[in-house]
Amino acid sequence: ALQQPQHGTVLEVNLDALTHNLQHYRRQLRPGTKLMVMVKAFAYGSGSYEVASLLEFQRADYLAVAYADEGQQLRDNGISLPIMVLNPGPDSFGQLRRYRLEPEVYSLERLRDYLQAAREAAQDALGPLPPLHLKLDTGMRRLGFAEDELPALLALLAAHRDQLPVAGIMTHLAAADDPAHDEFTRQQLAAFARMAAAIEETLGRPVLKHALNSAGIRRFPEAQFDMVRLGVGLYGVAAGAEGEDNLQPVSTLKTTISQIKELPAGTTVGYGRRGAATAHPRRLATLAIGYADGYDRRFSSGAGLVLLHGQRAPVVGSVCMDMVMVDVTDIPQARPGDVAVVFGDGLDINELAQRIGTIPYELLTNVSERVKRVFV
Ligand code: PLP
Repeated sequence: ALQQPQHGTVLEVNLDALTHNLQHYRRQLRPGTKLMVMVKAFAYGSGSYEVASLLEFQRADYLAVAYADEGQQLRDNGISLPIMVLNPGPDSFGQLRRYRLEPEVYSLERLRDYLQAAREAAQDALGPLPPLHLKLDTGMRRLGFAEDELPALLALLAAHRDQLPVAGIMTHLAAADDPAHDEFTRQQLAAFARMAAAIEETLGRPVLKHALNSAGIRRFPEAQFDMVRLGVGLYGVAAGAEGEDNLQPVSTLKTTISQIKELPAGTTVGYGRRGAATAHPRRLATLAIGYADGYDRRFSSGAGLVLLHGQRAPVVGSVCMDMVMVDVTDIPQARPGDVAVVFGDGLDINELAQRIGTIPYELLTNVSERVKRVFV
């Protein structure tokens, strides 16, 4: 329930829905397959500590964040699950070690740095460096060892395999959600299997291999390897056009009406008078949410809408920093203090994202820090 929000806008995070989604994906895993959950970017906007605590309670195997600072925050809040860091900065080795954060290592240069740090670590009494995950670039062309770098990688691993604590080998799929690219995805998975086998042979032991994101878990069950990396699906959003029947929305962004205005015909609205005058009188509601809360300015001028009393109210004029105006001419019962749903329960975030040419991930992660998270 909405409890006297400080500035009228809250993100309600439904932890039962999150648990439901977790079980939904768990059921799709082969016995023994481990589950890593992405809690980067403030758990896709949903509140990293609370989500991480729940995942720890629900016995996820791993968490993942983008930066070492995000991992440190989780440790400071008492999270003890293994945590992988996707893109640790070059100066973060001390932090990784102190907080037991496992880096993704994606280049020879970074691997040599790690080796050097591991040697230095062997000289002091602070304990070993955390294990690392080798990132292979099989087609995303973002981070990772490309296949033509494999011989150099294998040479380095062969020479130093006792000093390099390799925990995992991973890759990331570029288009797992899109059937039009399934052949490319299969090539990525085949390249991954091939490169990982060569690495394991060089190491002389098996390590955790992981490739699938949410859409991959749904669409390529044969490629689970040893672990999968669940992201957006946990938060109740289906990646890709095919959809996913069984997910429950986790986050609902809600705001309140600050004021109602009855406008005569011929009145313009908001900054730059971008809310064009109409030939008929209309009723406007001013809502306590703006782009500083993460309400995208691209929702201006009818691109966006909110739900009030179960009805859709379109945005009028430009989204302001802290407010936005919507047309409630057809919702005569709307009153100051009423709650509007901005996205989530009853208003599909996929549809809203499409209306402004983006993806649900961006809308979720844009909800700014000043918006209070309320866990229900
Ligand atoms: N693995 C990596 C390396 C990622 O960067 C991400 C998210 O961006 C994921 C897994 C999870 O992806 P999704 O949220 O689509 O499940």
